[in-house]
Amino acid sequence: MDQDLTRPGELNEACGVCGGFAADQPLAFLTCFSLYALQHRGQESAGIAAGPGEGRKMWLKRGMGLVSDVFPDSADLKGIVCRLALGHVRYSYGDGGRSPENVQPLKLRYRHGELAVIHNGNLLNTVKLRSELERQGAIFQTDTDSELLAHMVARQGSSNLEEALAEVAPRLKGAFAFIVSDGRKVIGLRDGYGFRPLSLASLDGGGYFMASETCAFDTIGANFIRDVEPGEMVVLDEEGVHSRQFIANPCSKLCVFEYIYFARPDSNLQGKNVHLVRRELGRQLARQHPVDADIVSGVPDSSIAAASGFAEEAGLPYEMGLVKNRYIGRTFIKPTQKMRQEGVDIKLNPVKKIVEGKRVVLVDDSIVRGTTSVKLIKIMLRAGAREVHLRISSPPVKGSCYYGIDIPNAQDLIAYNRQVEDMPALTGADSVGYLTMDETVEAVGLPAEKLCRACFTGDYPLLDE
Ligand code: SF4
Repeated sequence: MDQDLTRPGELNEACGVCGGFAADQPLAFLTCFSLYALQHRGQESAGIAAGPGEGRKMWLKRGMGLVSDVFPDSADLKGIVCRLALGHVRYSYGDGGRSPENVQPLKLRYRHGELAVIHNGNLLNTVKLRSELERQGAIFQTDTDSELLAHMVARQGSSNLEEALAEVAPRLKGAFAFIVSDGRKVIGLRDGYGFRPLSLASLDGGGYFMASETCAFDTIGANFIRDVEPGEMVVLDEEGVHSRQFIANPCSKLCVFEYIYFARPDSNLQGKNVHLVRRELGRQLARQHPVDADIVSGVPDSSIAAASGFAEEAGLPYEMGLVKNRYIGRTFIKPTQKMRQEGVDIKLNPVKKIVEGKRVVLVDDSIVRGTTSVKLIKIMLRAGAREVHLRISSPPVKGSCYYGIDIPNAQDLIAYNRQVEDMPALTGADSVGYLTMDETVEAVGLPAEKLCRACFTGDYPLLDE
């Protein structure tokens, strides 16, 4: 399944965050480049807040669209004098989610100055916390959890942002990676389960930087130090970096989908490189679901690593059976009614000379609604493939996500109330095979209890607490 804007996927990430503190660096410019690296996590809006320091207002620019739409002249950002900056790319879901007022960073004024807030994730107790504040007279201008946190900090009363956050953060229930600044320091917080990733790096020449994924560090030449721990607050300021735990008994539940599909292949999460994990998922898939075939092809781009792993393990040639057109935007409408009815996907085109007359193993990284798989099998057969064997390098998604990932309702999922035996008839493939959760976890190489697997297993952390 593909997540980028040339082929809207069935599943979407909810945001990318980054931010840092450094005295002598073009931080707004570096933040912009980090956002380019995080663009796959959200394409609806982008923004940067940058702080010049004590007593002066923070600079803010944000807007709808890609990073390149909002910051067309990124070199101009070099001229912004600042010692801290926060950056955000957003994927929004729900009716209110796409409103321009929800674009981040949010910048608000309170009695101790300014606050800039960004986040990735989803709080489970938003409604309760918001209504408590509204009963006390708070007026909300956005639907975001970032604004909720800002209100909570403002009400807490302390002029010390770190103390205020340490007081209010334990009341937040759900998945979050927040980065907050008052113009004096930059503070990153990760929820007690660490559902959403956040890592820390140092900058050459001094200073520190945090980002949702380590690929953002490579883009700006930052040096990875470590992942921010679940339940940890990391503070970047003039003194350097220090941290504290803000909840007792945190336990890691990083979203397993980060490895399967969301994160960029050049990122490392919990010490595991995403590309290598995906290749191992493909190898595992070949061991569990071998098939007599001529070639292996992956759905570009996110399934290519798994497909190459499958091919290696099966001893079959990896071929580029599908090519992606990267230049078709989200709003593109197919030119004829016939093309629309036949579900022709002009963003993915088969290479006829490759697939004609062949028995093709088509590897995709996940199966959600199944509409993409059905379409791809059709276009492979239309291109002359003799057989198409669908192999999925994860288990079928069986339920929603409450932790910030946009997954369709359970009844819209292809695996809802269905078995693997039903899949060939449902997808049009000659055979279908996918990994079990145990096989997936084994390939990821982390203990199962350190990963959130809820949308596959139905075992949702936090929901019954
Ligand atoms: Fe990730 Fe699924 Fe857990 Fe959501 S429910 S955090 S998508 S594993």
